[in-house]
Amino acid sequence: MIRHHIAHDLLVDYASGSLPEAPSLVVATHLACCASCREDVRRIEDIGGALLESVGTASLGPDALAAALDRLDKHEPETTELRLDEESRKVLPGPLARHVHRNLGDLRWRRLGPCIEEAVLASASPIFKTALLRVAAGAAMPAHTHGGHEYTLVLKGGIRDGGAEYRHGDVMSLDDTHEHKPVATEDEECICLVVLDAPVRLTGRFARLLNPFIKH
Ligand SMILES: [Zn+2]
Repeated sequence: MIRHHIAHDLLVDYASGSLPEAPSLVVATHLACCASCREDVRRIEDIGGALLESVGTASLGPDALAAALDRLDKHEPETTELRLDEESRKVLPGPLARHVHRNLGDLRWRRLGPCIEEAVLASASPIFKTALLRVAAGAAMPAHTHGGHEYTLVLKGGIRDGGAEYRHGDVMSLDDTHEHKPVATEDEECICLVVLDAPVRLTGRFARLLNPFIKH
């Protein structure tokens, strides 16, 4: 069961098409797992549609309808036609599988520490860093703060942070006011999708050692 959802203002930005690609990927991936947020987006789009009708369609460009339909399609929990192996199909919901477009084992994983690996994903904008993190069961991630926003969506296993537990589909959204040290739950390795709009700053005792490796 999903416990940690996407903030309403982010859903509004997503539904209106004004959210950049990288955080949109987090939202679309969450929507593939969460019927409640899908329903919220549908309601927001209904309100948006009613507003558009009330101002008339004459002011809209010729592509407006196609763009609106495309957005509606985007958050349907589609099955991907990609030929992925069993683990990749299980871990990557449809929108993320289409973005990653390969098996988890075929990604270029880079070791960030004894228990953490990172695979950087393609991003349309250099402002954002989009990556998958793989953390060993029970391992702590380095304590860090953020220069901007950090969205973390759990795909496998779980994370404990600040007294809360995050599981499959749950989203943790933090900004530069938070310092935290997430820990993977002990039951299995954790894989999560992380989107950053500014580099993280390590604050723990490994900070001096690791900071050069996690540049944005
Ligand atoms: Zn949700």
